[in-house]
Amino acid sequence: MKRRGPRLGLRYLVQKHRASHLHYDFRLEWRGVLLSWAVPKGPSLNPAVKRLASPTEDHPLAYADFEGVIPSEEYGAGTVMLWDSGVWQAETADVDEALEKGELKFTLLGQKLKGSWVLVRTRGLRGSGGRPSWLLIKHRDQFASEEDITLAAPRSVLTQRTLAEIARDGGGDVELAASGDPPGAGSVAPRHPRTTRRPRKVH
Ligand code: MN
Repeated sequence: MKRRGPRLGLRYLVQKHRASHLHYDFRLEWRGVLLSWAVPKGPSLNPAVKRLASPTEDHPLAYADFEGVIPSEEYGAGTVMLWDSGVWQAETADVDEALEKGELKFTLLGQKLKGSWVLVRTRGLRGSGGRPSWLLIKHRDQFASEEDITLAAPRSVLTQRTLAEIARDGGGDVELAASGDPPGAGSVAPRHPRTTRRPRKVH
């Protein structure tokens, strides 16, 4: 459901990013910025699966709706898809303390990801830059599933496009972008008039 007017809650989003390496940028609005983690394999709905989530630099809130092509000379060059979007709620009273302790429990109200999750900092596992890595894990609830959501729902929640289609429309590297789409996500046809596009999903 599309909402206009005052927004309730803090933004949550995932940007699928086909840069030098494919990853999913998991972002939570907090204190005016987007706290960010790069999740190479993307989120899993299976509580038995722990997904590596490397902290990356905070992003401005204005970046939350970005989808398109980052030019080759810029940092993060490649194709960006708004893969999921919604709001989040902390499951603990003190978010700053939870982040400090390295264990943040929260509920997602996204279009693809819902229910209870945790981000937990690991000891030992070092990501890029020598910073401790975190793990993104689904809690058991009615939204837990063994379905691979990255394969089941590979398209943009903003435009219903694949990575390849976003690259095509933005003058990016279509072949490279397509390597980030699951097999069978749809071949890239020449650009159609908007009226022949798949209707935007509204729910
Ligand atoms: Mn990224």
